[in-house]
Amino acid sequence: MKCPKCSQAELSDREISPGLTAKHCIECKGQWLPADHYETWKAQHGSFIPPEIPMGLNIEFGRSDLDTRAALCPECSRYLSRAKVKIKTPFFVDRCPQCGGIWCDYGEWEALTQLGLNTCIERLFEPKWQDQIRQKQQLRSEHEAMIEKMGVDLADRLFALADDLAEHPHGEYALAYLMRKVVYKNE
Ligand SMILES: [Zn+2]
Ligand SMILES: [Zn+2]
Repeated sequence: MKCPKCSQAELSDREISPGLTAKHCIECKGQWLPADHYETWKAQHGSFIPPEIPMGLNIEFGRSDLDTRAALCPECSRYLSRAKVKIKTPFFVDRCPQCGGIWCDYGEWEALTQLGLNTCIERLFEPKWQDQIRQKQQLRSEHEAMIEKMGVDLADRLFALADDLAEHPHGEYALAYLMRKVVYKNE
């Protein structure tokens, strides 16, 4: 089996996590996870429930030069589809729409492991999951911008207040009060 990305080397077996053997490329250091290997390994993890949203989104990660290169499945020659993992240094995971095999460029398996996504890679290819991640990241950057503008203390109080008001049946009443105080400067 030839490497789908650099097409130079024959892939060879390598254990990348206990109990999971991938097809490793010694040239580009990427790895192919045949669907059956991956599924068997996942089944051994028992009743693992994948996280709804990946945690620790800001891990540092040295992306491979081959990351954005289109490739064909080394098993059935279909074009691999790509799913973006939007961490600070975003990268793409490739997956064959036919056989379900997965390609990780150099460092990507380790990054997925750190993100807690290595046991649910196929979910990255679901639009709904990508939407959830997008929403979560929007919230995160909104929070960061708020802290930058207001300072940590005031931002924390604001977040707590916003949560309370969102829950409260008369939250809008408090909001109108804040508008008068803050925007119209009415005493
Ligand atoms: Zn290669
Ligand atoms: Zn395939």
